[in-house]
Amino acid sequence: MNKSEIIIKEKSIPYEIRRKKGNRHLRLTVHSDGRFVVSAPRWYPLYRIRRFIENKSSWIADKIQNVDFDKLEKKRKFIGAEYKKRKKEARQIIENSINILNNNSQFSFNRIAIRNQKSCWGSCSRKKNLNFNWQVAFLPEELKNYIIIHELCHLEELSHSQKFWKLVESLVPEYKQLRKKLKNHSV
Ligand SMILES: [Zn+2]
Repeated sequence: MNKSEIIIKEKSIPYEIRRKKGNRHLRLTVHSDGRFVVSAPRWYPLYRIRRFIENKSSWIADKIQNVDFDKLEKKRKFIGAEYKKRKKEARQIIENSINILNNNSQFSFNRIAIRNQKSCWGSCSRKKNLNFNWQVAFLPEELKNYIIIHELCHLEELSHSQKFWKLVESLVPEYKQLRKKLKNHSV
């Protein structure tokens, strides 16, 4: 992940560059909350990504004209302050839930990280470290548990393969409904 910004109509607009092996072209996504993401192939040179964005600046300006960046900035600061206050509590809740959900120790992992991250509820690394957004702790119980089980299952199956979803389903049969519900909660 890489953060950068572009000046459009005298405003500095932050964007994120996501490089992935599977990306074949440049792709620009502007989310409703004003987040602006460029997906790029891993090898793609940065100056060409910048040029691409500059060429698209009027399209971007159009997309973000209704985004209230001041309000978003306030929200970001508020969440940052809440995170500081509630980080410990969040860790306790998440660790406790992991203990309950992994009660027969089916899944083994190394470390648990609790973070204030955007656009992601949780992740699992190849090194078997679990990573959760602190706000997971304060979601409705069923959604919190689903996210935790989802990440635990990644300890056995890193990709979203059929095998992965079968494993999730065996532990959370109603996972499809929960995924839909989760879409109504933004990070
Ligand atoms: Zn996943």
